[in-house]
Amino acid sequence: MNDMDLRDILLRVEKPSRYIGNELNIIKKDIDENTIRFAFAFPDIYDVGMSHLGGHLLYNLMNEIEDVYCERVYSPWVDMEEVLREKKMEIYALESKDPISKFDFIGFTLQYEMSYTNILNILDLANIPLRSNQRREEDPFIIAGGPCAYNPEPLANIIDFFIMGEGEEVNIEIIELYKKMRDSSRDEFLREVAKIEGIYVPKFYNTVYNEDGTIKDFSPISDEFPSTIKKRIVEDFDKSYFPDKFLVPYIKTVHDRIMIEIFRGCTRGCRFCQAGTIYRPVRNRSIERISELARKLIDSTGYEEISLSSLSTSDYPEIESLVSAMMDEFEEEKISISLPSLRLDKFPIEMIEEIQKVRKTGLTFAPEAGSQRLRDVINKGIEEEDLINSVRKAFSRGWSSVKLYFMIGLPTETDEDVLGIKELGYKVRKEFFDRPKEEIKGNLNINLSSSCFVPKPFTPFQWFGQDSIEEFDRKIKLLKDNIRDRKIKYNSHDGKLSFLEAVIARGDRKIGEIIIRAFEKGCKFDGWSDYFDYDKWMEAFDELDIDPHFYANRTRDFDEIMPWDFVDVGVSKEFLKREWERAVEGRLSNDCRQGCINCGVNKEFSGDYC
Ligand code: SF4
Repeated sequence: MNDMDLRDILLRVEKPSRYIGNELNIIKKDIDENTIRFAFAFPDIYDVGMSHLGGHLLYNLMNEIEDVYCERVYSPWVDMEEVLREKKMEIYALESKDPISKFDFIGFTLQYEMSYTNILNILDLANIPLRSNQRREEDPFIIAGGPCAYNPEPLANIIDFFIMGEGEEVNIEIIELYKKMRDSSRDEFLREVAKIEGIYVPKFYNTVYNEDGTIKDFSPISDEFPSTIKKRIVEDFDKSYFPDKFLVPYIKTVHDRIMIEIFRGCTRGCRFCQAGTIYRPVRNRSIERISELARKLIDSTGYEEISLSSLSTSDYPEIESLVSAMMDEFEEEKISISLPSLRLDKFPIEMIEEIQKVRKTGLTFAPEAGSQRLRDVINKGIEEEDLINSVRKAFSRGWSSVKLYFMIGLPTETDEDVLGIKELGYKVRKEFFDRPKEEIKGNLNINLSSSCFVPKPFTPFQWFGQDSIEEFDRKIKLLKDNIRDRKIKYNSHDGKLSFLEAVIARGDRKIGEIIIRAFEKGCKFDGWSDYFDYDKWMEAFDELDIDPHFYANRTRDFDEIMPWDFVDVGVSKEFLKREWERAVEGRLSNDCRQGCINCGVNKEFSGDYC
């Protein structure tokens, strides 16, 4: 792509800096015959992709490997796509502006099932065949990793090979193998890469179905290939690779800040949460290492905020010491510290007040379920009192804006549980106004938000059939009809989108053809409500005679073979079954920091608590 062409294009699209690269800390390399070209592909727009921590990590890690040139590509927004197609130009990488079809590898991160049509759109704009079995010797290898890869089957006919688990070490092994096999055929390389632990090459596996559509057998086509794919983790997380510089975009992105992962994994065992099982065991990063990284990242980016990220930040063993170390280091420079995903039962209001001295923002809590009974079913491990105590403390310290996140459609849910969401909102309201007038500061603003529950693989709820769209709509209406207070706003997510997310998340190989057909009908940016076209998806199911309800709404037997059963995440199926049984009895399971409850991960992996 020459500068003139680019200039003409950029004059015709919004936010042109999505397509120019040249950000602070960009990596540019000379290309020669030894260069291995890797495109990190994020299947959504630049503004979203640039906030993805994994992208910053992989980009810098791959570019530290000799002879590897890792560049980036994001989904072009609809205006840019139109210009590219009109000018018959291929999608290009931001660093070199070279078409990604010329690369050796294109690596997609799978963060959300409803981004899969964007994967196809990027391949189509690169003139790369959508189906893996139609790829030519000269085509790049199409790789995928990330949380949604734990059920790879819906993309098995599209992706050449998957990475199960954490990429820090296995990506290096793939490159080392490729260096040795550059003159080999595509098939020869795929046969060898399939032998690296954590790599899954779908073409070497076969699925046989029963009459009723359930899986009868799933196995490798020969003993050459492993029958189970064991996820990869980095054992020494404290010393594991983390970049000391981030790309700094010219435009505002979703998260405009430094993100430092302070620990990986979670021990809480919320039964709806996939991340809570797939990232086990828990491994902490030391305060010394976090401080060292924070200093380098602030100096190399100029950012004014550091987010100490993890799945449950208040569970970091020395959270107070870590925050005061950060405040000591950065308060004078007016660098603010943010603590995402704080738990209600461990809500350090004093610390929040401390770190929000620099910048005060609203408070967000995630009770997840409206009643205590249902919170116990999902093993959330928080009491209503925890919420009331936290908002009472917050209101007494001047906060007046509160967001509460819930899910509807959880297993065993009743209308009473649903209305419990409204009740909690009203109780928070009461806490604000039930004080002496002179203490009431600010204008109360309560936001209740409910998403539609999607049962995910590798959770105790993986067998549970999702609520129908009609049932979601009925429950949303029930809440809307009953929340009658100007101080309390309620918004809900679209049941149809969550239905399709469940179909894909729990789907088998047949779903791959549905995704391709939906794409061919024009589906893309399905995660964006302006672009999501439910009817086109339903047409695809009709035309291919596949029943989506079979995947989303059907409760499955314990002995049914699940499309993802061949993936070994360490946590055993027996443990998940046990937790399902405890859920329907409304029995809690403790946080395993207080004592191991034998999820099984310690049989194959070691963490800080097992
Ligand atoms: S093996 Fe035990 S301590 Fe380790 S994550 Fe599982 S339940 Fe927790």
